[in-house]
Amino acid sequence: MKKKTMMIHGGISRDEHTGAVSVPIHHASTFKQNGVGNFVYEYARTGNPTRHALEQLIKDLEGGAAGFAFASGMAAITTVMNLFSAGDHIILTDDVYGGTFRLMTKVLNKHKIEVDFVDTSSTEEIIKNIKSNTKAIYVETPTNPLLKITNISEVSKIAKDNGLLLIVDNTFSTPYWQNPILHGANIVLHSATKYLGGHSDVVAGLVVVDSEQLATELHFYQNSIGAVLGPQDSWLLIRGIKTLAIRMEEIESNTKKIVEFLKNHKLVSKIYYPGLSEHKGHDVHLSQASGFGGMVSFDVGSAEKAEQILKDVHYFTLAESLGAVESLISLPAKMTHASIPAERRAELGITDGLVRISVGLEDVDDLIEDLEQAFNK
Ligand SMILES: *Cc1c(COP(=O)(O)O)cnc(C)c1O
Repeated sequence: MKKKTMMIHGGISRDEHTGAVSVPIHHASTFKQNGVGNFVYEYARTGNPTRHALEQLIKDLEGGAAGFAFASGMAAITTVMNLFSAGDHIILTDDVYGGTFRLMTKVLNKHKIEVDFVDTSSTEEIIKNIKSNTKAIYVETPTNPLLKITNISEVSKIAKDNGLLLIVDNTFSTPYWQNPILHGANIVLHSATKYLGGHSDVVAGLVVVDSEQLATELHFYQNSIGAVLGPQDSWLLIRGIKTLAIRMEEIESNTKKIVEFLKNHKLVSKIYYPGLSEHKGHDVHLSQASGFGGMVSFDVGSAEKAEQILKDVHYFTLAESLGAVESLISLPAKMTHASIPAERRAELGITDGLVRISVGLEDVDDLIEDLEQAFNK
């Protein structure tokens, strides 16, 4: 089955009992047993049919062994981190999502999970940081907001050689463009709040694992921690995913035109977009993903100019988040990445004049005109 077909027919896509072409929303917290211990579903934290349909769908889309749905991307990441114990060490991408940075440095540090943030686009950097207690490598590619690229299959070889798990946050590329498990990752994470939901109306997280053993373990933690996704939101995600392919294609086509515009505007000193042949990691990205997505960051020189642009655009909504039908604009240094200390931000290159856009599905001519009038003000 090809990807576009799988988005519609993958997982469990209809109701066997009624023939309904959309999965029912099972608002049930418990299920009648046919005799003690004889049941399909038992209790809805452990398993719910609507959530299960979504979990089967994301499993199919990522090509893994099992899928799991959570109440948010952070709930998914937190549950995965429970695979580790006090004293374990994890290597993470240095410009990892701000919420992930906060989780590791302000929450899981209390449970003695040790972390190092390294430039995972360099395999030497990864190897240098492997210690005797290292248990996993956690990668985002492309990263947020600098769109840095990590070579998943090269890192997976390092992980295998050293007996480590490779975890990839695939939020930016989505399973439509990139399937980390096919390149050797063991666990794939999504903030489904973004492209998978796609309409800025649901907060959710998804995980796919590559083995039955990890599936058993992760289900144990999903059920024990209980940060599961409700049936209504599970249904919204299934509905969002049905149009993921067509949204990603159109978003990318819009993005390419906007990047052309940015390249030709004198205000813009630097553009970060993996689709640019001069972008560092462009070739690596092409070797593991079939598209470049709709996230672009660019530098307009100063915080003042950036804030003025954010205030003066009409179609780009000033908001956190990304991956929706509506175009969004943000200032990473003061918004998504504000929880990263200023000096660390400077080290990473997240300057005060760095603007990030998430291109949506509006007419691209309107979007370009909008940026232009705000730039020229
Ligand atoms: C948003 C985001 C998260 C966190 O997801 P929530 O659904 O907001 O909890 C994790 N990783 C990346 C890359 C994200 O963009």
